[in-house]
Amino acid sequence: MKGKVIKSTGSWYIVLGDDGNYYDCRIKGKFRIKGIKSTNPIAVGDVVDFEMEPGEPTALIAHLHDRENYIIRKSVNLSKQTQVIAANMDQAVLVVTLGAPRTSLGFIDRFLVTSEAYHIPTILVFNKYDIYDDEAKVYLQEIKDLYGQIGYSCYDVSATTGYGIEVIKGLLKDKTTLFSGHSGVGKSSLINAIFPEKQLKTMAISEVHQKGMHTTTFAEMFELPFGGFVIDTPGIRELGVVDIEPEELSGYFPELREFSPQCKFNNCTHVHEPGCAVIKGVEEGHIAPTRYDSYISIFHNFDSRA
Ligand code: GDP
Ligand code: ZN
Repeated sequence: MKGKVIKSTGSWYIVLGDDGNYYDCRIKGKFRIKGIKSTNPIAVGDVVDFEMEPGEPTALIAHLHDRENYIIRKSVNLSKQTQVIAANMDQAVLVVTLGAPRTSLGFIDRFLVTSEAYHIPTILVFNKYDIYDDEAKVYLQEIKDLYGQIGYSCYDVSATTGYGIEVIKGLLKDKTTLFSGHSGVGKSSLINAIFPEKQLKTMAISEVHQKGMHTTTFAEMFELPFGGFVIDTPGIRELGVVDIEPEELSGYFPELREFSPQCKFNNCTHVHEPGCAVIKGVEEGHIAPTRYDSYISIFHNFDSRA
């Protein structure tokens, strides 16, 4: 049977089968995935084929289907290895707040670079709308205009009052969505406002296997009652800018990507070169200075990364 991995605890996986039932699965024998050097062969969101173990209520994963996309992070213990956090996302929601706590534009931009690199369309959701005064609302509108012009959809919500929640539900319906955001922005509150019944049925199923087990889960997937899935990544603060080369970076800023073909030098880094169309774009007001600053800041970080 075919199914979708909705939870991983390292050695056991909960798979939602095409028949709508949940299965406790292990990995079959010498199961290896070609091409990916990760500490975990299977992650939340993976589509797999599995078969029941003879005479057991449990099943074995026999095959992993190709991933449409996946996000990784460097393994905490083994620095050269990566962990796959989640796979097959249709989109990401980045929850941000402009106060209490303030999400920096640099953080937003780093996330967007990563999601561009992973080919995950990202929606910006501005939470805590209820606490913004008139002045804050003006700033919020400026920020929304900035990102909206680049092509990112922006929405105002309040997890507390329920403002804007129905619109978000509409965006999530029948899609697999990665939820991300700084701690304190109200990501959990928002997920709860979207589907209060998220305390999953799967909890009951796998209690036996989860008990006393070394849990290496870093992403959880919830099935939405109205169709679709939400992936929450509780332990992960920020998706790293993984495996991006400095010369690729401007390609992950849509508005820089638009100007860079007109640079005088085709290997222009857009930092200092004469005839740089990106720098000209900033000077002429076509590219937001904060976005260019983020580009420069990430670009210079590559040096310290080596
Ligand atoms: P998380 O760390 O992103 O999961 O944030 P939480 O959901 O735990 O929320 C952090 C704090 O912000 C809590 O005290 C929430 O009650 C509060 N909070 C969340 N959403 C809103 C909102 O829309 N408006 C206001 N005023 N407070 C909120
Ligand atoms: Zn340039």
